[in-house]
Amino acid sequence: MDAGSRRAVEQALSSPDYFAGDMPWLIAKPGCPVCRATVERTRRLLFWYREESYNSAPWIERLSRCWGFCRQHTWDVVTAGARHELTFGAEFLSRQAAARLGRLDAALRPDRTGGLRQTREAAVSAASVALSPEDPCPICTTLAGDARDLLDLLHSLRDRQEAEQYAVADGLCESHYARAAELATPVAPAELGLLSAAQTRSRRATLAAAGAGGVDAYGRQLSLIAGWRFGPAPQASLSRSDGAAAERESFAAHPVDRHWLKTQIPRAASFSALALMPGCPLCRLRELRRYELYTDLLAQHQGAAGSLPRLCRVHVWELFDCDDERRLPPVWSSLLESRLTEGRPAADDERPMVVPPALHCPACEANAAADAEALEKGGFNDAPAVVCLPHLVSMVQAGEPAFELAAKLAQVFAALNQEIGEYFRKLDYRFSNEPKGREQSAGLRALALLNGSPPLFRRELVESLSACGGWSYRAGTTGGSLS
Ligand SMILES: [Zn+2]
Ligand SMILES: [Zn+2]
Ligand SMILES: [Zn+2]
Ligand SMILES: [Zn+2]
Repeated sequence: MDAGSRRAVEQALSSPDYFAGDMPWLIAKPGCPVCRATVERTRRLLFWYREESYNSAPWIERLSRCWGFCRQHTWDVVTAGARHELTFGAEFLSRQAAARLGRLDAALRPDRTGGLRQTREAAVSAASVALSPEDPCPICTTLAGDARDLLDLLHSLRDRQEAEQYAVADGLCESHYARAAELATPVAPAELGLLSAAQTRSRRATLAAAGAGGVDAYGRQLSLIAGWRFGPAPQASLSRSDGAAAERESFAAHPVDRHWLKTQIPRAASFSALALMPGCPLCRLRELRRYELYTDLLAQHQGAAGSLPRLCRVHVWELFDCDDERRLPPVWSSLLESRLTEGRPAADDERPMVVPPALHCPACEANAAADAEALEKGGFNDAPAVVCLPHLVSMVQAGEPAFELAAKLAQVFAALNQEIGEYFRKLDYRFSNEPKGREQSAGLRALALLNGSPPLFRRELVESLSACGGWSYRAGTTGGSLS
């Protein structure tokens, strides 16, 4: 633990003026109280974004620094129904992207810049930095606010009544437990004991309840392992709520249509085969490799106990969604059992649990390996597909001479910016009776290139894009557009 975190814990534990927020109230509620606070806060952020701030100057400035939401959260926010609001952001981001990609293209072409190699390298580096986010995505930032909730929890445990309530509550999810234990370890041994005892009790109770089956037991086991999923709420309420709606949404499955997915993901051996699929081929290769991993994990654990690798929160939920054949209960039980015995000599040992080891999520590793694999295969400049902006930047930073791609993408963004302008023009009451066409999907198409393709695991998202005109790139016919 660094000195700053240590000071923060000491302050939370010793100051009589410290305010523990909603934590004393939340610890008596079902599920991880830190997840509950975080998910509720995220819903409020989204509420205000949609209600009034999406078109305000501070938000526009914020989005231009972080290039919109990250890939994961862009498509979550689309699912929450904020498509129009995101299109508003995509209009100026696509203009910004077109201009900066033009500069990157110029820097990448040796014939245009000439001069010293170092000068050219500096120009390429500056141009690629200008296309990278300076700040994290607003929802990632909100989720990271859980550090404060953990301090609030430690402060609450100093109160006897609240400590008693916590002792019979559900305890924390795995990732929040690991962080709370890390914060408490040198500074607050009494609080660590309380956290650990509640955690053991809760894991045992969840395992015992798992035999009973049912969606609730299913969701609870998963939430204990992974934490709550960020569930974008279409109708987020602003009244002070206990997060019950957020909890329900968080546990809901988003079943993956495996049959459809199989038709979308050919076991592509070549980059050119991937380039024929909808969306950014590098995003697709990542999904292909993750899907292979999930299929293997589910096959290995069919009815059998054993330990599963430590998947991160996002990817545990993706694995959950991938299992439409309902083989999961044994998988989750074995995951939970392996956590229960982790770092302990025996399941009935009452000593405090050790802090779990750091996550090495194999699905996150598969993403990185897929990017490396795509780079090794190469051949991007001749492919018909367009690579998304984050992937293009990482290719350039890896030394790929991607000037054809940068030029192509700059053209596409310029065309998309005009299409979005047309979309907004037709929203004006004076022109609203004009027939509407392809421009309606321009915002989504821009997001797919600004932040990464919508996940193939979410069929409805991919289809809503394909339904408005498809994805493939036709160079030269319309000055560059997605058709
Ligand atoms: Zn949690
Ligand atoms: Zn994010
Ligand atoms: Zn991509
Ligand atoms: Zn992961």
